[in-house]
Amino acid sequence: MARVNDDFLNLQSGYLFPEVARRIRIWQERNEGVSVMKLSIGNTTEAITPSIAEAMHKKIDLLTDRNTYTGYGDEQGDTALRNALASHYENEYGVMLSPSDFFISDGAKSDAANIQSIFSRSSIPAIQDPAYPVYVDSNVAGGHTGCYSTENDCYNGIVYMPSDASNGFVATPPEVHADLVYLCFPNNPTGAAATKEELRAFVDYAHRENAIIIFDSAYSDYIETKGIPHSIYEIDGAEEVAIEIGSFSKNAGFTGIRLGWTIVPEALKSENSEKGIIHKLWNRRQCTFFNGASNIAQQGGIAALSPQGRKECRSLVEYYKENARIIREGLSTSGLNIYGGIDSPYIWAECPDRMTSWDFFDFLLEKAHVAVTPGSGFGKAGEGYVRISSYGHREDIEKAVSSIKENL
Ligand code: PLP
Repeated sequence: MARVNDDFLNLQSGYLFPEVARRIRIWQERNEGVSVMKLSIGNTTEAITPSIAEAMHKKIDLLTDRNTYTGYGDEQGDTALRNALASHYENEYGVMLSPSDFFISDGAKSDAANIQSIFSRSSIPAIQDPAYPVYVDSNVAGGHTGCYSTENDCYNGIVYMPSDASNGFVATPPEVHADLVYLCFPNNPTGAAATKEELRAFVDYAHRENAIIIFDSAYSDYIETKGIPHSIYEIDGAEEVAIEIGSFSKNAGFTGIRLGWTIVPEALKSENSEKGIIHKLWNRRQCTFFNGASNIAQQGGIAALSPQGRKECRSLVEYYKENARIIREGLSTSGLNIYGGIDSPYIWAECPDRMTSWDFFDFLLEKAHVAVTPGSGFGKAGEGYVRISSYGHREDIEKAVSSIKENL
């Protein structure tokens, strides 16, 4: 008899966003005609920029002519896009990588979820708490963890790295051994950014423990503070111990278009693999399970990395960052303890009066008609906080902030 994968049965139900949606729905049924202002989702809202749109239009035109039509491309991605990404890292971050280190994908989420599959089942993951839920769930589904402990409110077999006000929401390397260390900076959900020294501590840990860092840089274009690294490879020696995952979603508005990349340097090695093997394994994995990113999206990606595209993307990011400033400053004046929102589109707000994350969620929905995301949904260290997203039209953000201020 066929059996389903027990590791998938080990996944706890995806509670956070369905529960947010359920509570909004119930509230709306009770309050007909009143709309809810949603600062709960990390989804882009502004139009893609002109030069990116033009490049994708051009590619569609080429596809409509049999003489210029192209079908499947390289699983690893268009050479021009891999070259453009390598130049981007060199020009903007001073990081030298080979174009062949870049694997183009349909976005950071799938790569962040799939990367664990090329590592041994016995690999111990270390994950920040709170964290983007994909890191935990993919390790559970990949069989790298034990069962969920309802008593401790966490999975056995994961080394949790708490990020809280005491460490400025930047976790420190664990005191125990881990094999796969997931880091995300600027962080979703806390909005914290890590300094060079803080990242260096993780690179040193990885060298010491023969661990691999999986660094999610999806929000790197939101960094404005001088000296904050945009890439883990700005830290010496990182190319031997780190994989980096990037995305066009949040800086170029590709959340629906879908395009990202993963860097697996040739220099990377592990306990049972010499240099080059992990790179080859990821190549093998991609060639077997993935048929390449959309060729239209890839043309958009190349345009996004051109000087004009970078200029346009910067102003797109600036738009959301201005939203973040409005939220941050607006809510700080109403007495909330506010974190993040400077090098990040996310504001991490402490719930007042010792409310739980869900209590404050309900309070804001009821009184201010604003939806946020309960911090506890990102891990137990997120309890007592909510995440406020700056993705939204300016007028909606301003209305939501005024409403929260009036009702706190
Ligand atoms: N990584 C982080 C930390 C995110 O917050 C998100 C989306 O919200 C992603 C990755 C997903 O990126 P993509 O749209 O490229 O799949």
